[in-house]
Amino acid sequence: CGIVGYIGQDDSKEILLKGLEKLEYRGYDSAGIALKNENGVHVFKEKGRIADLREIVNGDVVANIGIGHTRWATHGIPSRVNSHPHQSTSGRFTLVHNGVIENYDILKREYLTDVTFISETDTEVIVQLIELFVQEGLEVLEAFRKTLTLLHGSYALALLDEQDDETIYVAKNKSPLLVGLGDDFNVVASDAMAMLQVTDQYVELMDKEIVIVTKNEVTIQNLNGEIMIREPYTAELDASDIEKGTYP
Ligand code: GLU
Repeated sequence: CGIVGYIGQDDSKEILLKGLEKLEYRGYDSAGIALKNENGVHVFKEKGRIADLREIVNGDVVANIGIGHTRWATHGIPSRVNSHPHQSTSGRFTLVHNGVIENYDILKREYLTDVTFISETDTEVIVQLIELFVQEGLEVLEAFRKTLTLLHGSYALALLDEQDDETIYVAKNKSPLLVGLGDDFNVVASDAMAMLQVTDQYVELMDKEIVIVTKNEVTIQNLNGEIMIREPYTAELDASDIEKGTYP
């Protein structure tokens, strides 16, 4: 399973799909992408292979912001409905998640009894909590932070806000996630290999950090809101490393 994301000047579709193909070796049962442009967020997802996803992605949708996901189902059978991305009830927030939220049922009962869930996933609880806290008056970043403080378990997350054309919100805990740096674009990936097609500069993330990714900037904060400064490293993996068996 894996996550990719792109924010920049170019059309993100092919970059995301290629990135997901590079993550196929990790195993998955479903795949999906969300593309954000001036018309809103467009979600394409399907049970099966990336090749099946390619068939349903509308080639006419051009978007400079996007996130993608391969799912290895833990909560809810492999199906189109349970595939990621997942959206909040209003459609404002769109999320991909790798990992397992151990207390999702408790959170559902404590905070989300009024919400009609569409999927059987633990993931949907996360995106519905973010929407709830925004409806209660929090800024998106604060709602994201509050949600993270409630989660028990593992996660790599990438979040889109339909009302924000500048940002992908990212966080991780006990699941891998990196941010890749480019000129006038930035990317997100579970594994540098997914995005070596566009950059070899990566920033490692620590557990429970929040990252605000725009096309020109990457801001890392800890859960207290303190800014973390971290230098990028140069990733040198290529496909031949896998063939040689030297990776991971
Ligand atoms: N627990 C989530 C689900 O079952 C994410 C699984 C994954 O890591 O792909 O949908």
